[in-house]
Amino acid sequence: MAGTRTFTMIKPEAVAAGHAGKIIDMLISNGFRIVALKYTRLSHKEAGTFYEVHKERPFYGELVDYMASGPIYAAILEKENAMEDFRKLIGATDPANAAEGTIRKNFAESKAKNAVHGSDSDENAALEGAFFFSSREQF
Ligand code: GDP
Repeated sequence: MAGTRTFTMIKPEAVAAGHAGKIIDMLISNGFRIVALKYTRLSHKEAGTFYEVHKERPFYGELVDYMASGPIYAAILEKENAMEDFRKLIGATDPANAAEGTIRKNFAESKAKNAVHGSDSDENAALEGAFFFSSREQF
């Protein structure tokens, strides 16, 4: 059965550009309930740990530098079929390929600086949510 929770981050360039409020509004108006929300900044070490699954990919170093480059918003979201529906709402990794009306189409700068993170499985959503939030920060 598909899970009801997923995890997202609004990435540094989207926060710096002032898009966070519009992105949060978009996810709420698309039926996602906020379970947990935090404005924070990853240290370089924390970003490396968070993205450890991508360690072998050629862009790992750039990704870690970028994600530690400024503050982000982290959130756990709830909706039926949350992970898949949120991946649809954010759109393709590269905004050039993202569908009209998606968050990345509207706000992403490039394939690397693509405005938002969305978990790619229910299992990763649970792990990523637990990376940022204790149970008493989830409502
Ligand atoms: P996602 O699941 O759609 O976020 O995409 P991936 O799992 O393939 O990649 C994870 C993240 O790495 C992306 O969201 C981008 O921020 C970044 N990324 C992907 N491809 C590239 C690339 O070619 N170069 C760089 N610098 N970053 C990339």
